[in-house]
Amino acid sequence: MERTLIIIKPEGVQRGLIGQILARFEQRGLKLVGLKMLQMSPALAEEHYAVHKGKPFYTGLVKHITSGPVVVGVVEGRGAIKMVRTMMGATNAAEAAPGTIRGDFALEIGYNIIHGSDGPETAAREISLFFKPEELLDYRLASESWLYEEQ
Ligand code: GDP
Ligand code: MG
Repeated sequence: MERTLIIIKPEGVQRGLIGQILARFEQRGLKLVGLKMLQMSPALAEEHYAVHKGKPFYTGLVKHITSGPVVVGVVEGRGAIKMVRTMMGATNAAEAAPGTIRGDFALEIGYNIIHGSDGPETAAREISLFFKPEELLDYRLASESWLYEEQ
């Protein structure tokens, strides 16, 4: 099982999309093992987006992600990291395919609704930025026996 971090960005919260976005992951069969609402501090945002430091959009990105409440979650499932990225769609929402979260709910790159970790190392790092180990739950969904061929 893989775990990945998702963030419903301030525009997703403000536009009333929390439920619809989380529902997509639940419907797919992915499992939420951690979930919280918070407003990111500049320090946390700078750490989370450290890989983009120095890029032209970095300052605006940090300002935007800290501008209001976000919903942060940890999603678990087989191949969850890539699956969440696929469900999110292209970074530039203007080019995101219909059927993806960005392709269905967003128009522009800077207001693209959702963050998802882009690989195993990033996922581990990002999860540890937002969640203490005891905030992540180990449990089994009854549906898992009907989602995975091999238990
Ligand atoms: P992601 O992994 O698909 O979220 O994309 P990146 O890691 O490359 O970038 C992080 C976030 O920075 C994106 O989700 C965008 O919101 C924002 N971003 C990336 N590139 C640009 C850009 O060229 N302009 C603006 N305004 N925002 C950008
Ligand atoms: Mg990224």
